[in-house]
Amino acid sequence: MEITSDIQLRQAQKLAFCYLCGRGFEVKEHVTRDHVPPKAVFLPCDRTKPLILPTHDNCNQRESRGDEVVGQLIGALYGVYPRMERRRVKIGVYENAVNKTPVLALEGISLTGVIARCIKGFHAALYGEYLPKTTPHWFDPPTAVGSKKGNQIVFEETRPHFLLFVRTIKKNRKAGRVDRISCFNDKCVYECVWERTDGGTWACFFALNIYDWKELGDASHQPRRGCVGFYMPTRGRPPQAMIGITRVLEIPIPNAEAFDPFGN
Ligand SMILES: [Zn+2]
Repeated sequence: MEITSDIQLRQAQKLAFCYLCGRGFEVKEHVTRDHVPPKAVFLPCDRTKPLILPTHDNCNQRESRGDEVVGQLIGALYGVYPRMERRRVKIGVYENAVNKTPVLALEGISLTGVIARCIKGFHAALYGEYLPKTTPHWFDPPTAVGSKKGNQIVFEETRPHFLLFVRTIKKNRKAGRVDRISCFNDKCVYECVWERTDGGTWACFFALNIYDWKELGDASHQPRRGCVGFYMPTRGRPPQAMIGITRVLEIPIPNAEAFDPFGN
């Protein structure tokens, strides 16, 4: 499946259900058009070729909070800053708990929330199916995740499967076996492929790039990283989804405590 041209993107708007809740639209209900990813994320000059999906008015309002924050964050990559009174992005200065170097940390922002909503939208647009919130999933935002301890930040280890997911996408892209959405002046690119895990379940492995958001990370202390992940819909693989070349992938587990069978 590919949604990259104007015509294909317009076709995706004709979904018969709300991609946020999965219900159809009653005659009386107010339907809005939701940009996926949120329009606020893109510079005005890049808002051509948008991906727009229908939602209930209520569903959309409930979910739209973090958009402005993410938009301002990505704007900052391009030196575009909103006026002081409209600034939502909070940046704090801390110390890296391990090597004691200074760290700039973004606070009160959930990139993962925005990413989860995009994945729902992309799944609906590509396969015409609703992806429930309860779908087992795992993904990493394009920045290192850490928690505050006093004036220090303790970063989470990069999970070993991160690298496996990057390889899976690269291998299948090379083999021409990825489903693809390219929208917003091609500043947003989503690619995914379906592989069976060794548990027999189908999983969708994906990569998402918005502008070059790997630059958001702290490049002087950590390798630049993109956004990858997977999800496993309980209803299995959509019929038109692209099957990858790996066929069977090991079920991702963190295994941080490799010597403890009951540990993480
Ligand atoms: Zn809805």
